[in-house]
Order: sequence, then C-alpha cells, then structure tokens
Amino acid sequence: GNFVPPIRSNGGNVGNMTSRIAGKGDDALDDSIKRCMDMLCGPDGELPEKLRNLEPRLIEHISNEIMDRDPNVRWDDIAGLDHAKKCVTEMVIWPLLRPDIFKGCRSPGRGLLLFGPPGTGKTMIGKAIAGEAKATFFYISASSLTSKWIGEGEKLVRALFGVASCRQPAVIFVDEIDSLLSQRKSEGEHESSRRLKTQFLIEMEGFDSVSEQILLIGATNRPQELDEAARRRLTKRLYIPLPSSDARVWIIRNLLEKDGLFKLSKDDTDTICKLTEGYSGSDMKNLVKDASMGPLREALRQGIEITKLKKEDMRPVTLQDFEDALQEVRPSVSLNELGTYEEWNKQFGSLS
Ligand code: ADP
Repeated sequence: GNFVPPIRSNGGNVGNMTSRIAGKGDDALDDSIKRCMDMLCGPDGELPEKLRNLEPRLIEHISNEIMDRDPNVRWDDIAGLDHAKKCVTEMVIWPLLRPDIFKGCRSPGRGLLLFGPPGTGKTMIGKAIAGEAKATFFYISASSLTSKWIGEGEKLVRALFGVASCRQPAVIFVDEIDSLLSQRKSEGEHESSRRLKTQFLIEMEGFDSVSEQILLIGATNRPQELDEAARRRLTKRLYIPLPSSDARVWIIRNLLEKDGLFKLSKDDTDTICKLTEGYSGSDMKNLVKDASMGPLREALRQGIEITKLKKEDMRPVTLQDFEDALQEVRPSVSLNELGTYEEWNKQFGSLS
C-alpha cells in the first residue's frame, strides 16, 4: 500500500544520501533503483510484501553494495580451523542445504558468533558458508551503520533483513557486531544507537521461524563487550584462534605456489614457523607479500632496470627473504589479548 515507485525526484531528495555514498549521479541511481526493484519483483510482477514499505534507495544500496552474489571463498581456501569448519558444517551448511531434515528438535540456531583476534579468517568463514551452502551473502560492518548511516541505520537494518528474506537462503554477516550490540550503557549512549540496537534485535527475533532460511553471523574481536541479549541470540559461539604452525605453513605454501614461487625446504618452513609464533593469518599474508618482493629488490640492487627484468630470470623466494620480511611485518595481536579470548571462550564459547 505505501510503496512509492522510484520516480525521478526533481529536488533530488531520493538520491541525495545514497548517491553521495555510492558516488552515483541521480540518473544513474534512478536506473539502478529501477533495475533492483525489477529483480526483486515476483513472477506476478509485484514487489514482495516485505519490501513494500521500504525506501527504494535503501533496497538499491543493500542489493548493490551489501549483497555479494559470488563470495568466491571455499573451505579449501581457509587454513586450519578444523574445529570451526566441522561445527559450522553441521550447524549451518547442512541445515541450509536440507531444511526438510533440520526441523523440530534438529532445527538449527539462527545466530552464530565468530570471535577471536583480527585477521584470523572470520570473514572468510562467513563467505565460505555462503559459498558452500549456495546462499546469498550480505556483508555489513556494524560500525558503518553507526557512522555512515547516522539516523538511517534502523531503516537500513529493516531493508537488509527485508532483502535477505527475498533472497533465501541467505547469510547476513555483521562485522564488528560488538559496536551494535555492546553492553556499554554509558551516559553518552545515544538515543539513536539504542533504537538501532532494538531494531536489530527485533529483526533477529523476526526471522526466527522454521520457514525462513536466514542465518545471521556476527564477528567480533571484542566478545566481552556483548551483552546478555546478544549472547542469547547468537546461540553458537565459536572461537577463531590464531593459526597453528601447520596452518601458517599452509598459508605460505598456498600463496607462493599460486605464483610458482614456492621452493622452500622443510627446514626452511620449520624455521619460519618458529619465527612466526603469534602471527595471524592476515599477518602471514602480509609477510609472504613482503618476502616475495625479496628477489625483485635484489635484482634491482644489482642494477637491472625494472622494465628489462625478465620474470623467468628471477630467483625463487628464500628463507633469507622471510627473515628480512620479518623485520618489517610484526605480529598485530598481543599475547595479553589472547588470554581474554580464551577466558571468554571457556565461559561462553561452544567448545565441542
Ligand atoms: P577477520 O575477519 O578474522 O578479521 P579475514 O577473514 O578478513 O579476518 O582475513 C583477512 C585475510 O587474512 C584474508 O583475506 C586471508 O588472506 C588471510 N587469512 C586470515 N586467516 C586465514 C586462514 N585461516 N587461512 C587463509 N588465509 C587467512
């Protein structure tokens, strides 16, 4: 009833906010809105009930900026984390693939929390879930809801869940979920962020029915900031720790082999492993990037011009390149932080 078709606005008020954000002009935005609406219409040409009261420009933003049709990450791309992969397969992927079996007492929880240090593969897991379960992936950073969408966060949250319910099965990945569902009740807590939190919790309750195939994944580096209401809704809580030594070697090998640069011996990788204790997956990626510059830097030091450099003449990456790179790339997670995660895991984590 209240749906307003996306007509061109003379005052430019339909597009202003989104065009600023998406960098589109009004005409391009109007076209894009129309395309999104067409795509979301059912076979009868009508927009689904859930979307009718939502603002078209927000639906466009969700469809184009937040929805990822091809997340392009598979389990095999993720090093280690066998425990998390096993839990997630059972709890999330099977139910999304076989909703007919996973009902009644087997019905899955609708909320999953991935917590642990930054750069350990939480986002990768979210994407892999969507990929493996052939689900649509929605990625939103909770801090952008409170910063970029000031005053509009609630509407965007409604649009997010609305579009997801038209794109089932769907995985909604909320990064930095602590900034949305934090327990801090400081005096400064804005009325608007309180409303946003309430709206989010309402939406989470709203899809908690057997018929809807939507999974919410929250990721955080600060699980201790989540309040009881958030914990209750995120029923499964998985610790995503720093990579083991095997996983670190795997990351090195995988990245270098892709470019045909892996020639390290077992002794070399053992040494690198000892030297990279405490590095996250993302630190390892940065380390490999830096080390892979070693052969190039050496050739340039010898006076070869970059334009004349032949790829086939460059030597493989060596242990020495890694030792040099270790001077540049330091671990980003401190040991103290790890203790906090482990404590929280013992108290609230899903251990089996
Ligand atoms: P998080 O969401 O935990 O902060 P991400 O999933 O965004 O971390 O990881 C950042 C990058 O670090 C990834 O794109 C990937 O290149 C690398 N990475 C992190 N963890 C792993 C892992 N377990 N296996 C392979 N690569 C990883």
